[in-house]
Amino acid sequence: MKTLYLAPLLLAAAGTVLAQAPAASSTDQKPTPPPQTKSFDASAIDKTADPCTDFYQYACGNWVKNNPIPADQVRWARSFSLLGERNRYYLWQELDAASKDPKTPLQKQYGDYYAACMDTSLIDQKGLEPLKPALDRVAALKSAKDLGPLVGELAMHGDPAPLFRFGVQQDEKDSSKQIASIFQAGLSLPDRDYYLVDNPRFTRIRAEYHDHLVKMFTLAGDSADDAAKEADAVLKIETALAKGSTSRTELREPENRYHIKTLAELKDLAPDFDFTTYFKDIHVGQFQTLNVATPNYFKALNDLIASEPVDSWKSYLRWHLLHGSASDLPKGFRDENFDFFGKTLAGQKEQTPRWKQCTAQTDRALGEAVGQDWVKQHFPPSSKASMDKLVAALDKALGDDIKTLPWMSDETRKAAEAKLMLYRNKIGYPEKWRSYAALSVKRNDALGNVHREAIFDRDYNLNKLGKPVDEKEWGMTPPTVNAYYNPSQNDINFPAGILQPPFFDPDIDPAVNFGGIGVVIGHEMTHGFDDEGSKYDGKGNLREWQTADDRKKFTERTDCEVQEYGGFEAAPAHGDVAEQKLNGKLTLGENTADNGGLRIAYMALQDTLAEEGKNLDEKIDGYTEAQRYFIGFAQVWCQNQTEQSARQSALVDPHSPGKWRVNGSVQNFDEFGKAFGCKKGQPMYPEHSCRVW
Ligand SMILES: [Zn+2]
Repeated sequence: MKTLYLAPLLLAAAGTVLAQAPAASSTDQKPTPPPQTKSFDASAIDKTADPCTDFYQYACGNWVKNNPIPADQVRWARSFSLLGERNRYYLWQELDAASKDPKTPLQKQYGDYYAACMDTSLIDQKGLEPLKPALDRVAALKSAKDLGPLVGELAMHGDPAPLFRFGVQQDEKDSSKQIASIFQAGLSLPDRDYYLVDNPRFTRIRAEYHDHLVKMFTLAGDSADDAAKEADAVLKIETALAKGSTSRTELREPENRYHIKTLAELKDLAPDFDFTTYFKDIHVGQFQTLNVATPNYFKALNDLIASEPVDSWKSYLRWHLLHGSASDLPKGFRDENFDFFGKTLAGQKEQTPRWKQCTAQTDRALGEAVGQDWVKQHFPPSSKASMDKLVAALDKALGDDIKTLPWMSDETRKAAEAKLMLYRNKIGYPEKWRSYAALSVKRNDALGNVHREAIFDRDYNLNKLGKPVDEKEWGMTPPTVNAYYNPSQNDINFPAGILQPPFFDPDIDPAVNFGGIGVVIGHEMTHGFDDEGSKYDGKGNLREWQTADDRKKFTERTDCEVQEYGGFEAAPAHGDVAEQKLNGKLTLGENTADNGGLRIAYMALQDTLAEEGKNLDEKIDGYTEAQRYFIGFAQVWCQNQTEQSARQSALVDPHSPGKWRVNGSVQNFDEFGKAFGCKKGQPMYPEHSCRVW
């Protein structure tokens, strides 16, 4: 899944951080509704800056100066954060009301889920008791060779079961099939680099992580000596698993995560892990072959099973139980978890208020239940109709772009057009809502609800094995401020949450809307043709459709972007901490989508204005329509971010930070330099720029 903003995995990681904060008194103020963000904000502009030198500074400078990061955030983005907070507020209102006076069985279910999460005094009073069955299971481990049955049993009960992710997904080479797939997942820090890279900053983080492990084990009742030994064991196992893990950049290449193997071949990779019992425990149906996404990881895991004593494995699993449950454990755990993962790693000053955490947690668990009521209030049918028109305009523009691309042969052009013809789109919310009837929610059992939800969700996923693909299913909940392209389904998806100001405003001139939601639509469409998406055909199968010569030209062009963005700074050097540059390869797909989106939304805007007998030179409030388009686009990306979080993002986030999403895109698009009267050779209007689409 290719997203517009933070990737789902990252959201989950950020969610872990969000979900750690307890109801601290200072941050537990009564919720208030944040104001709507303007789609075009002249007061955000820094008029002392030269748009041709640094357009981001020009379009966002005053906003950046006047909007410091709130204490409970690590990144504060003018569009995503403000709209996200607003959506969350209205979601909270609904949850709060449902928790007090539910009117329907569904409201009772999500109201109780929210209420249980909010009841921190009951959570504190219960101590570790809700986790005790799982802790006892881990303590009873006799031999490292019994890991398979133990991890299976933990998963069966919905407890955090680390080491790998197992689930059902579409077959990359036959998208009509849903097959089993297994993927590396054994680390706690955000990326393998945190364990493996030797520099002063990571050395300090590893020492702080060790301290955190000791504190968590101590809180769980272990002696200081034992806790120190347990922390050593966890760090040793996770470091070895990090070495065996494939890097994020390598995983961008679909072939690097596609290895169809028989069950016997999986067992050959890791003979000491009892997969037979594990698969039986989690109640997955019969299968003979599966995708082993990261084979080397499973070899490394097997080596570790042979080399590490059983006590080390107990420490590792005990840690993952505490860590994975921290947001629903007593205050001491929640505080300590925030201190490391929130404050130390990401630079967050204060814990997120509990109502925000519980709103987010309920949305993750019961999103299509809560969303049904939410869209009634926040997504009028007129928005859907406007979006249909906008998507059609962007679709035509991308078609025109493909027709006129200078580097492409006719053969590849035909194949690209065929792929575009097969694009599908989903707007707002699902046609058919998912049923939560099988999920039992108890008002007095926060952690139990999390466990039952984990089982419910896994059963839902595993039940897809061998079944036809449901093309109408959604990968995001309705209030989410994001969008995505799914290469296996070749579809673009826009949740109701993003179809509001500042992205989409029915009352503003088309230029600003095309700079906002128009570029978002163009971004998602271009994902189907980025370095990763372009390897899938219109039916969602991993299959080359470019000629060898065109693929070579395509790669020369994407290499240009790799070089360009790889030169951009994510965080400056200071003291013994080195400068952090962006990873041009990791961010290539998103940068390509940004560049393509900006170009085709501009083409679509030209068409739309022409139909109305207007053009881009007309002025509103002192700016031409072309200028308003680019300013509207840039102001989507105004943001402040803590340095810790910016460094973390540079390693794990495939999206570039706001500044480079703006400046990188405009300097690759000559129409920008023309719109602002720049001189050829100025930074935002260079002699040589990169272009893929
Ligand atoms: Zn994207």
